[in-house]
Amino acid sequence: MDRDARIIQGIGVSPGIAIGKAHILERGRVAVPYHVLMGEGAVEEECARFEAAIGKAERELEEIKEKLRPDLKEHAHVIEVHQMILRDRLIYDETLRFIGEERLNAQWALVRSLRKAHDLFGALKDEYIRSRVADVDAVGEQVLRNLSGHNDDWLDGIRERVIVVAHDLSPADVGQLRLERTLGLVTDMGGRTSHTSIIARSLNIPAVVGAERATERISMGSVIIIDGAAGKLITNPTEKEISYYYERQDEIETYVKEINRKAHLPAETRDGYHVGVEANIEVLEEVVAAKDNGAEGVGLYRTEFFFMNRKELPDEETLYHEYRELAELMAPQPVTMRTLDLGADKLASWYPRLEEANPALGLRSIRLCLRYIELFRSQLRAILRASASARNIRLMFPLVSGIAELMEAKRILKEVREDLTARRVPFDEAMRVGVMIEVPSAVAIADLMAREVSFFSIGTNDLIQYSLAIDRGNEHVAYLYEPLHPGVLRFIKHTVDAGHKAGIEVSICGEMAAEPVYTPVLLGLEFDKLSMNPQAVPRVKNLISRSFMKDCRRFVKKALQISTAGEIGDHLHDMMMKKFPEEFQIFDPSALVARPALPRAKRDL
Ligand code: PEP
Ligand code: MG
Repeated sequence: MDRDARIIQGIGVSPGIAIGKAHILERGRVAVPYHVLMGEGAVEEECARFEAAIGKAERELEEIKEKLRPDLKEHAHVIEVHQMILRDRLIYDETLRFIGEERLNAQWALVRSLRKAHDLFGALKDEYIRSRVADVDAVGEQVLRNLSGHNDDWLDGIRERVIVVAHDLSPADVGQLRLERTLGLVTDMGGRTSHTSIIARSLNIPAVVGAERATERISMGSVIIIDGAAGKLITNPTEKEISYYYERQDEIETYVKEINRKAHLPAETRDGYHVGVEANIEVLEEVVAAKDNGAEGVGLYRTEFFFMNRKELPDEETLYHEYRELAELMAPQPVTMRTLDLGADKLASWYPRLEEANPALGLRSIRLCLRYIELFRSQLRAILRASASARNIRLMFPLVSGIAELMEAKRILKEVREDLTARRVPFDEAMRVGVMIEVPSAVAIADLMAREVSFFSIGTNDLIQYSLAIDRGNEHVAYLYEPLHPGVLRFIKHTVDAGHKAGIEVSICGEMAAEPVYTPVLLGLEFDKLSMNPQAVPRVKNLISRSFMKDCRRFVKKALQISTAGEIGDHLHDMMMKKFPEEFQIFDPSALVARPALPRAKRDL
């Protein structure tokens, strides 16, 4: 076999090296029998059999959800989506209709309704909807298994520490894996943002996804190597390769231990400039990861996730207890609570479906809160009441596009405070109120905004989307998503300068803050704080403590004169390789600076 044929190139989604025996998880497709129902009562019997299979699937999902480890709880909503699909009109009602009207057996009726749902969604290009198609398939498969009396023990067969190789793994599957026996993960399917990838990253398990046909090309029990940063998978490795990768594994482990050991020290550049490093969290349980990784507070609590993970709107009391617990767990460090940022791709089952042509430009976030004022008030009351306990809560409004909107949000906050005062309900009178800068108009009037708040937090995920006019979920324009775009850098610089001129703190909480390669750029842009997913904190703190502020400032000054992201990226690459060679040799040399390729011009439509 030639050397290259042993190497499979996939997408590296969770860094680290794993060397071990492959365990191929073959779920095996369930055979689908076909027959027409004959005789009296056969339809009713088949409907009852289908109902029982749905009920069993519901219980199975509930069990998986309950058994989910605390650090995976944020993914519970994916399982809830599966639960919702079970009773969805397109699947549930349609299957019963096929059984009743066409007298089909339940398996065949279900397959027909799944196919229909597939045709309906599959034709759409939208990545979010396509991922829902995968959810529909996973649910369908589960019900088919129950109908066939198939025992799903495919995940139980793992007896030793192995690299799990599967065609696809749903988040529910990952939730059931024995993680102490999982050295690494490989899947044929998947992309960087699939839930399996996100979970692997948050558990620090090296993972390669999108490794097409890996399940066919790897044999059960054979030794393989995966490099989760480079997305590389080596089958039948030579002795030399094995010892090389063991060495790399040692280097990474030593390096990670070293940076984790220092993660609890304050982040200070070598020339004495202090930068706060905080964590972005979605659920209460992540406080543990935030603290373990050395975060100095919560820079962004995405409160909407608590609303998305349930069938009904949570009441003020429930919110109050959740917020109070979070604040107390994190005290005395600050917790920045962002008011509801629902809408666009963040949907909850309890609020009215809006038929919007452009949901990203629609009634989302603060706009939604100002429309459904009672919902907003109840969240503000809960936050204010929770602030009384440890007095470490800060509040911020997302997606504000103008002063009138900000003043309206502040007016409602004032009313809620007055009401609490009148009722003698305690709260932190000194609670600081800030605003997220995510819309170009907010950048343009940053000086006016700064007069009204006590801090800015720049949300680069949305700011890049709106300033470059690219839907961040649309793969056709993904090549335009450039954090180093001169327009983006200038917007950030303008905002930081306006904030500082007004004497307020400016932080960043977009994904850009979590990429160590951008750390010197963000330092040079003079951010006071960087907030990121907890796992990124040690690496970013390490880079800060090894940087000189004067070099970062010089770099940014030069970058702001350069006209393309590509050129800025080249300079950044050179600087990082010179200053931090071991950091980037150890982790992800290939993904050092994102250089998306321009699409080729097409002659024909
Ligand atoms: C952002 O837009 O950068 C941000 C932090 O908010 P979210 O990713 O939740 O939209
Ligand atoms: Mg945002």
